[in-house]
Amino acid sequence: MNKKTVKDINVANKRVLLRCDLNVPLDENFKITDDTRINGALPTIDYLVEQGAKIVLCSHLGRPKGEVNPKFSLKPVADELKKRSYNIVFASDVIGEDAKAKAAALQNGEILLLENLRFHKEETDNDPEFAKALAEFADVYVNDAFGAAHRAHASTAGVAQYLPAVSGFLLQKELQVLGDMLENPKHPFVAIMGGAKVSDKIPVIKNLMNIADTIIIGGGMAYTFAKALGGKIGKSICEDDKIALALEIIGDAMEKNVRIVLPVDTVATKEFSNDSPAKVFSTRAIDDDYSGMDIGEKTREIFANDLRDAKTVIWNGPMGVFEFDNFAKGTFKIAKTLAELDDCMTIIGGGDSAAAVKKLGYGDKMGHISTGGGASLEFIEGKELPGVAALNDK
Ligand code: ADP
Ligand code: MG
Repeated sequence: MNKKTVKDINVANKRVLLRCDLNVPLDENFKITDDTRINGALPTIDYLVEQGAKIVLCSHLGRPKGEVNPKFSLKPVADELKKRSYNIVFASDVIGEDAKAKAAALQNGEILLLENLRFHKEETDNDPEFAKALAEFADVYVNDAFGAAHRAHASTAGVAQYLPAVSGFLLQKELQVLGDMLENPKHPFVAIMGGAKVSDKIPVIKNLMNIADTIIIGGGMAYTFAKALGGKIGKSICEDDKIALALEIIGDAMEKNVRIVLPVDTVATKEFSNDSPAKVFSTRAIDDDYSGMDIGEKTREIFANDLRDAKTVIWNGPMGVFEFDNFAKGTFKIAKTLAELDDCMTIIGGGDSAAAVKKLGYGDKMGHISTGGGASLEFIEGKELPGVAALNDK
């Protein structure tokens, strides 16, 4: 990576503004239901603590839309870090009196967590005055929020105008893994695309077409391809305005000698529910009143076979409506197959695919689980991420 990291500058005894992605899911009692993002932020926090920096930590949580809303407070995150023995105080505002007073009182190795950045609409507007106010907390800026790096916000991009700006370890690792995958992958390279919509992933598929040997397409997006090839898909999810693009992708693949693998069978139901009686159809001959919920058993075997010799795999998007246990089999088969591959770099790109892998207990069997769904998609599309572009070059 050609951007400076926290190791390239001196942070000892310095005031550091650290932007992390602490956007954790909370239940109705404000209990954190998945602490992956907190764990992801710890290596950089630990390093800064060891170095004796004074850490002003900031993040967004949810979408409070520019207004103060206690439902989206970062307080539960501060409590969690305190529980894990971090020396942390919480500010009840972002750039207000409480934050300023507590920042001024910070000792070396202590952490101040600011309230949710998105309580100010200036954050998402990338307002220069707001960015400047954030910069005033610190001598250096460290961005470790990979999950927000595709946004040009005040705390991810704007603030870098006013301070030396470097990446943290998580951001660095994400760029390293995804960058290596794009630039120097081991072959065979298999991409598995799924999820609800083709439109989300068209630019990704187009870019992967230049690198991958095989592209497996499952999940809801497969029905747009099935229809494009003249299939009857019943009530299955489909983007009619993307049928031409689906055909274009198939044409491109032939030209570039990339194998596209589509489902041959589908588990379908009449109602969108876990208990709706399921019937298996050929993916191109689904009854009118049925809708595809998961890839069928034959397809699972075909996909698993295509993965057997892979040396690089990127997976983005579940193979079916995996939130319903009865339609999670295709997604689980892919997760299990990837977990059992030897000597293969397995990269999980999407939030829902990552959730599926973890739910199965295969989290530590994967080469890399990206912490940023949207950011990793944009990176794989070949776009420059504003939060990365803003950092200082080496
Ligand atoms: P990721 O977060 O891994 O990138 P997406 O957000 O693109 O994945 O897609 C995940 C969603 O796609 C899930 O909510 C899942 O229920 C949905 N999905 C997958 N297959 C189907 C299908 N056949 N019909 C409707 N929705 C589907
Ligand atoms: Mg998702």
